[in-house]
Amino acid sequence: MNSETKTCQNCKQNFVIEPEDFQFYEKIKVLQPTWCPECRMIRRMIIRNERVLYRRPCKGLGHNEEVISIYSADKPFNVYDQKLWWSDEWDSLQFGKTYDFSRPFFEQFKELWETVPLLALSNSNAINSDYCNVADQSKDSYMTSGSFKIENTHYSNRVYTVKDSMDLYVGFRNELCYECVHCSDCYRVVYGKQCIGCTDSYFLYDCRNCSNCFGCTNLRNKNHCIFNKQYTKEDYLKKISEFNLGSAKQIEKLSKEFNNVYFKSIHKYATILKSVNVIGDNVSDAKNCKVCFDITEGGEDCKYVHWGGLQTKDVYDGGPGVGIIDLSYEIVDTGLQGSNIAFTNVVYGSHNVRYALFCHNSSNIFGCIGLRNKNYCILNKQYSKEEYEELIPRVIKHMNHMPYIDERDRQYRYGEFFPPSISPFCYNESIAQDYFPLTREKALERGYKWRELDERHYKTTKKAVDLPDNIKEVTDEILKEIIECVHKGECNDGCTIAFKIMPAELQFYQRLNLPLPRFCFNCRHVRRLQERNPLKLWHRGCMCDYEVYPNTRRHKHHLDGRCPNEFETSYSSERKEIVYCEQCYNAEVV
Ligand SMILES: [Zn+2]
Ligand SMILES: [Zn+2]
Ligand SMILES: [Zn+2]
Ligand SMILES: [Zn+2]
Repeated sequence: MNSETKTCQNCKQNFVIEPEDFQFYEKIKVLQPTWCPECRMIRRMIIRNERVLYRRPCKGLGHNEEVISIYSADKPFNVYDQKLWWSDEWDSLQFGKTYDFSRPFFEQFKELWETVPLLALSNSNAINSDYCNVADQSKDSYMTSGSFKIENTHYSNRVYTVKDSMDLYVGFRNELCYECVHCSDCYRVVYGKQCIGCTDSYFLYDCRNCSNCFGCTNLRNKNHCIFNKQYTKEDYLKKISEFNLGSAKQIEKLSKEFNNVYFKSIHKYATILKSVNVIGDNVSDAKNCKVCFDITEGGEDCKYVHWGGLQTKDVYDGGPGVGIIDLSYEIVDTGLQGSNIAFTNVVYGSHNVRYALFCHNSSNIFGCIGLRNKNYCILNKQYSKEEYEELIPRVIKHMNHMPYIDERDRQYRYGEFFPPSISPFCYNESIAQDYFPLTREKALERGYKWRELDERHYKTTKKAVDLPDNIKEVTDEILKEIIECVHKGECNDGCTIAFKIMPAELQFYQRLNLPLPRFCFNCRHVRRLQERNPLKLWHRGCMCDYEVYPNTRRHKHHLDGRCPNEFETSYSSERKEIVYCEQCYNAEVV
């Protein structure tokens, strides 16, 4: 079978379906996709709101209290709080509908979506952590999402087993860390990027097992280095105390200095660890995976998967949030068990599922929402095994004969994920805005919904520029202030315009001798996202030619000058970083 070039229904760009892809689509029995891989990834992200929280009433079953929710109060959903949703007080089959062969499937599914109770937000086993979402086992934490086992951790996203930390994006097993991106097993690291096993350090990029280092890049097993220069312990400590790190002005100055060092360091074309035959970035322990990003602890025979791992096998178009699952397609948040599921969001421990949301331990279900321990259901209606098996082929045929057509004439047959138009979220409420940011105009132009910022009624009491420069000058009085973010809502980052400092937060800044932030948490989050490479790949060549970087030794290609190696990398050619192939990188970074 040959590869085939198609035009994406959404962005109108060409994309290629490879022979191996046809095999996969055949195995999972779906039509070939009509959207390109990137548009498919965005479409999955559009049904996911991790960080934008609202207050709305929970009106189910005589309850009438306010809940914190990912659904704003103006949306037509039936939202239950955690306790009620997980209780036996209601039955999801009670909302069942008979499949109507005179209307498109997605139209019927949308109606079901608006009637079946939805979980206000996903925050299980939380202690004193009401504002965490897509979170399990949070303690004394605030505004952290996509997290597992966190304690006293605030304003962070995609963090596992983290304690006493703030402002992290993608981190595992960290403690006392601040402003770190893609760091793991770190202790007391401030302003770190792509670091493993480092302690007591500031401004690090691509360092491993380093301690007491400042402004360093590409280091392994070093102590007491400043801007990659070795110092004695005494000189190091003296220099560090002179830096006056509690001052916001000093941090800004040092951060600029570090930025220069960053662009002079070497960047490996991709971070792929302990893996075989992998194309992507930030992948570890994987085998035969293509175009995969942010995969930890395992993945095999996967393609187009983002944010997954733990024995994900034979999965196409997965994530965010896939693990211990096999033969599945177009899936978001699968929990840690399942097989043969497709077009799902938050479907755990289930098998043979097509088009489902928030279903658990269920099998042979199609077009269902909120089921637990059920079999043979279509649109939340119970059938016998025989009836189900007779109906399913007819439903699929009907979906192909009478596709759902959205306002931009995009057609959705069997094999397409949920159309953005029926998502409960606008583009800028969803994580699509995190990974593929658009302006309001561009989003509307592409047929996505957009939510205007809620009218904020904050009366700010202090401008960011008027904050004390040094943390040492800050008193508890600051807890009363409503601080105006430097961006004043004029950016495209979901700026909240104003923000407050919480007591736990102030203690953290004081303990680590860090100046107060000048930006609101949304603006800070977006700045961290900009530190990561995009979920895209470019074909490029190794830049190693003994001129872009002063190599310290002879490389294999020494006599020929420039290294001939080529690769797929998430560094586009417009970027300023010096990008090396694996061999050249390994020759220099030892
Ligand atoms: Zn496209
Ligand atoms: Zn802001
Ligand atoms: Zn090279
Ligand atoms: Zn080289």
